[in-house]
Amino acid sequence: MRVERNRWIYDLVYCGECGVHVPVFRDLAPSDQTMVDAWRLRKTPSSQIADETGLSKELAKSWKLHRNKPIQQKGQMNSTPCPECGRWLRTPCAKQCFHCGNKWHD
Ligand SMILES: [Zn+2]
Ligand SMILES: [Zn+2]
Repeated sequence: MRVERNRWIYDLVYCGECGVHVPVFRDLAPSDQTMVDAWRLRKTPSSQIADETGLSKELAKSWKLHRNKPIQQKGQMNSTPCPECGRWLRTPCAKQCFHCGNKWHD
């Protein structure tokens, strides 16, 4: 699932091992790529990553958790994740998340 937020574009990839969605950044501008690479190398607080990218705290945390380890993609999912917190929606076409209260339209 692809999400666009401000200038940040990322896929939400499900890690079956951890049971969370992980944002995988795409098409980063060179300056953003440099910043993300720096986050990979040092221990950046997830709150700072959330501030910079507009990710929710949950997604910033799961990014940090997987910054240096592979995402264990398993199986085919029959639901879609909330673009805000990355948890499963009740139905694939839901427009509201019961976990974080986020609502959106196409
Ligand atoms: Zn994982
Ligand atoms: Zn949510």
